[in-house]
Amino acid sequence: MPEDKKAFLGIMFECCRVYSRIYKNKEGTHYVGSCPRCGRRLKVRIGEGGSGNRFFRAR
Ligand SMILES: [Zn+2]
Repeated sequence: MPEDKKAFLGIMFECCRVYSRIYKNKEGTHYVGSCPRCGRRLKVRIGEGGSGNRFFRAR
């Protein structure tokens, strides 16, 4: 299966002020990942906040 270029979401983890990406889960319902510094888990429902929003702030 070819790589889906939209299969990730850019995240600013405000807990550690670090930018990272989180990726689609296998069900395709959420983007899931964790902060690369502190490991805090993040889950964002796909489609939340309208279309075309490729950037998200984690507070
Ligand atoms: Zn963090």
